[in-house]
Amino acid sequence: MSRVILQPTGNKDAREHYVDTLVRPVDILRIKPFISTEELIRLEELYPSGLVPTWGVTAGVNKVNANKWSKIQPADVTFFSANKVLYSYGYVTYKIHNVPLAENLWGWNSKGETWEFIYFLDEIREHDIPISLFNEIVGYSQNFKVQGFSVLDEEKSDALLSYFDLESETVVQPVSEIEYKDIIESFNKDTLDIEGKTKSRAEQGFLRKALFGNMTVGRCGICGKEYPIPFLVAAHIKKRSFCSNEEKLDYKNIVMPMCKFGCDDLFEKGYITVEEGRIVVNQKITTKMLEEHLSKLKERQIAGWNEDNAKYFLWHAKYHSLSKVR
Ligand SMILES: [Zn+2]
Repeated sequence: MSRVILQPTGNKDAREHYVDTLVRPVDILRIKPFISTEELIRLEELYPSGLVPTWGVTAGVNKVNANKWSKIQPADVTFFSANKVLYSYGYVTYKIHNVPLAENLWGWNSKGETWEFIYFLDEIREHDIPISLFNEIVGYSQNFKVQGFSVLDEEKSDALLSYFDLESETVVQPVSEIEYKDIIESFNKDTLDIEGKTKSRAEQGFLRKALFGNMTVGRCGICGKEYPIPFLVAAHIKKRSFCSNEEKLDYKNIVMPMCKFGCDDLFEKGYITVEEGRIVVNQKITTKMLEEHLSKLKERQIAGWNEDNAKYFLWHAKYHSLSKVR
């Protein structure tokens, strides 16, 4: 699950780096000579604009920073702090250990170190969280100060991310199959609000990872059009609230990517159902504009329909024929 990284930027070096390589992201052409082809391909996928917000930390005394850095994963959230305020945050996309690149970007500090433990960020946004509020949310004492680069444990990370309802749009958080199983089996209606939110986030994270992996674009299962993955949802074919745990764990068949440009909603609300792999348009309150849209989907053959998910489509079609207003 996503962790929170605290990155103080009080000293001169950090303030400069913040402006030089985050506020003004690094041109991928500057990074290219220092990295492998594989790394370049990944960065090109993640940053089609060619502009890469880049951050790095030094190894630290006894490699303390290096050890923390090794725990960082895509979709972790870095909060930048200075003057008792967490003033911005961004999502981790990727990381590399690379001395020559760090040297080129930032040079060396007075102790002869460079910021070689590099990580890349995206979706950087300004925020204004007083450190006192942060302390309260994660349960630190009131006089706690963000001292150095640190990675919060799972519980504190969850508390903060749930409080602000933060979740990356483009980077999918890694959730293992075992964690997913735990989440599904431990869900119950009495779960506290924050815990419930955290679990739903992890569940969606897992399903998105299962559907999209590391892809940056994907295809809608209904209209068949290609979109960047922030515009696709992992939609349950059989309504999630009606699924047994066993059905939820059948994650390879129970969800399908559907686009936010209508398909997800039309399916969810039963305007369309799928029978024998073809889209059926149902009679509902409509408008001329919607009717035109639906006529393009009508009878379309769904590429993702197969004998393993057919039963879930059948359930969906039955559910909506029963709830149809006649
Ligand atoms: Zn679609």
